[in-house]
Order: sequence, then C-alpha cells, then structure tokens
Amino acid sequence: MPLVNGKVVFEFARQNCFAVGSFNADNMEVMQAIIETAKEERAPVSLQLGPKSIGYAGLAMLAGMVKIAAAQVDVPVVLHLDHGTGFEQNLMCLREGFTSLMFDGSRLPYEENVAKTAKIVEIAHIAGVPLEAELGQVLQAGALPEQVAAAMTDPDQALDFVKRTGCDLLAVAVGSIHQMRGREADLDIPRIKAIYEWVRIPLVLHGSSGVKHESLAEAIEYGVTKINVATYIKDGFVSHLRKVMAEKPDEGDVRALLGPAREAAKVRVREKMRVFGASNRISSSGAFISPATRH
Ligand SMILES: [Zn+2]
Repeated sequence: MPLVNGKVVFEFARQNCFAVGSFNADNMEVMQAIIETAKEERAPVSLQLGPKSIGYAGLAMLAGMVKIAAAQVDVPVVLHLDHGTGFEQNLMCLREGFTSLMFDGSRLPYEENVAKTAKIVEIAHIAGVPLEAELGQVLQAGALPEQVAAAMTDPDQALDFVKRTGCDLLAVAVGSIHQMRGREADLDIPRIKAIYEWVRIPLVLHGSSGVKHESLAEAIEYGVTKINVATYIKDGFVSHLRKVMAEKPDEGDVRALLGPAREAAKVRVREKMRVFGASNRISSSGAFISPATRH
C-alpha cells in the first residue's frame, strides 16, 4: 500500500498500548529486511532515515526505495525522518513524501529549541504530517551515568514544550543511550509515567538497542509508542556479513554475501517487533485490528 501517515499509525499504537518499531535503514538490504518482516509479522512499521544515511545514499534514492517496497506489502509503512537537522531538511523530506518528520533541537538552548520546533511543526501540519521533537538529551555510548541522569527530560518542562510547540510526538531522555551494544540499561519508569501524564502524546524512545526488554515493556505501558532501533539491527547485519565473508573468502558475488546478512537482520527486526507488541495488529486485508483500550 502507499506510505501511511505517521499520525494514524502512532495514534493506533498509543490507543492499543503497543509500540511501533522505527528502524533505520542505510541500504537496500536492511530496508527490505524491515519491510518484509513487517509483512510477515502483520505489524505496522516505521522506517526511518537519518542525516548520515541521506548524505551517504541521497534522499531521493532512499525515499524512492522505501516507497517502492511499501507499495508491495499490505501492512502500513511510515517513512520517518530521524534526527532532522532543521527547517530545510524537513521541507525537503516533505517534498519527497515522508509521512512523519523530526526536528532534533535537543542540544539547543531551551527557548531556541521551542522556537525552531514550533516553526517546523507549522509546516508539517500544513502538509498534515506529524512532527517528533526532542527534549532532554539521549547521549551517545560512552556517556557516564551522571551525565545520562543530568540530561534526562524534565516532566514540567515537557508539558510547557509540548503546549508551546504543538509537536505530535516527543522523544524523551529517560535512561537510554545511543549506540549501546550490551542490553543492560534500565529506564526511569516513574519519569516516563510523569511525562506521559502531563503531555498525553506518543512518547518516543531513542537508543533502545541497549535497553532491557522488561524495561521496554514497562515503558510501553506508560506511553512510549515509537521505539527507534538502529544499532541492534545494523550489528546483526554486519556480524553475519563478516561471518559469510570469512566462510567464503573467494566469493565475488555481492548478492551471495548480502543476501544472508539480510536474513540475519530480519531475525532481529522480528524479535523487536514482538517485544514491542506490534505483531498481529494488521489484518490480512491491511486493516488495523483490535479495539482501542487507552484514551
Ligand atoms: Zn536517536
């Protein structure tokens, strides 16, 4: 089916207490792994592209591939901009048909983050597309525990931010860290609960690869509706690629190397979709299943 508006998919997930996996794709094989698994799992999915991938492969090329792959399956696929850098990039993504946007102003002073986010929300809403914003900072691997704690989202400020910007989804810093390889982080569940009680919009978790599954399940219960996964999928793909290359040092056919790695990525996408409760949410005719349970 054609790309589906993120607002529809994330709101369905919020009402039904599960999370939509938002997976990063840097190449065709990982993109296919994500969309094929969504089809097999009957799961709505968000496929996200970040500035580095856009710089590597080109915006039109990546967006074009996602649109073609989405058109071939009967589950909803959202095309989302991950960590959008500003007004211009968001506008370019709208032009390419993205159905969900993000502006990451989390490193800016608070008032500047509010002003820039509000401006991008305005154009996103003219086009009928939701915008994710970020408040607090989700740090990179190597950050110290005290740095992670100091960068967390403040629930009171989150309410002010959402009211003043009109953003549709809020990425929160609640204990996860980008690019973690072990799965050992616990989330600050009371903080998630407090933020959600104030803002009542879908919360987004970045850096989920390093978070314990039981902590993710609890976070979903308290309002986390979109969960980004990049490192865990990439690692699955690359480690399998390394294995195949070691086993077949003379193999010169790139398809014989990348094909098995694509299958390895699918295993990890499936695992995360099931942890998020996203499987079996879409009927064989492509409709959303199950009544709303949360308001
Ligand atoms: Zn992120």
